[in-house]
Amino acid sequence: MAANELKDLIPMSEWLPGIKRPLIIAGPCSAESPEQLMQTAKEIKVLGQVDIFRAGIWKPRTFPNNFEGVGSIGLEWLREVKKETGMPVATEVGSVKHVFEAIKYGVDLIWIGARTTANPFAMQEIAEALQGVDIPVLVKNPLSPDLELWDGGINRIYAAGIRKLGAIHRGFSTWGKSDLRNTPHWQVPIELKRIHPNLPIIGDPSHICGNRTMIADIAQRAMDFNLDGLMIESHCNPDEAWSDAKQQVTPTRLGEILSGLKIKTEHT
Ligand code: PEP
Ligand code: MN
Repeated sequence: MAANELKDLIPMSEWLPGIKRPLIIAGPCSAESPEQLMQTAKEIKVLGQVDIFRAGIWKPRTFPNNFEGVGSIGLEWLREVKKETGMPVATEVGSVKHVFEAIKYGVDLIWIGARTTANPFAMQEIAEALQGVDIPVLVKNPLSPDLELWDGGINRIYAAGIRKLGAIHRGFSTWGKSDLRNTPHWQVPIELKRIHPNLPIIGDPSHICGNRTMIADIAQRAMDFNLDGLMIESHCNPDEAWSDAKQQVTPTRLGEILSGLKIKTEHT
């Protein structure tokens, strides 16, 4: 793994109009209905603190027969959210079909989930589908703390020509009971940053925590480690969420968390 392979990345501030550092992405784990999506988006919009609205529509679930996302219809709901609120929208892609659909519906940013990053075949296919496409792409770390696998996935997307490229640190799976759902192993994103100083890394406290109570602390840690932004799951009615209910916060709570962050001002 050679340092500085990702030479000519486009700075995050130039990815989409009006976005800033730290980049704040927020929205529900999953799109559930047009009403849930629009209500959450409107409540998030009024905070004035969120750059990009997120919602998963294809959900990679551990067990079959869990809610696997609303599918492509959710792209129409996201399009409505964008029209109504003016917020750029983001969703997760895990296959070539997802990439083509997301692009067709004008999704502004896509991210690749932890389970997909771990699969070089899937990453290669997604990278090839992204050839010649101008869209910001964020690559979540794989479930295991395997820096090379993460970096390898990022390099595949880079090799496809994507220059609006970043990473998401969502923590790593462990066996056994712990306060956090996924262990942060902060040294892994820090090492990724050392290898690629120009690669933005967004912290995902929601999936690290797995519960609401620690999101603010982990978000602050991400800022203290100089990560470039945050992705936080927020739902208009978190207790009733169809996925990741325990870790989602109301838009009101999201606003408090964001307002409470101490951010180093030398990085803008
Ligand atoms: C998500 O962002 O909702 C998600 C499925 O995350 P991860 O890939 O990190 O598990
Ligand atoms: Mn989730």
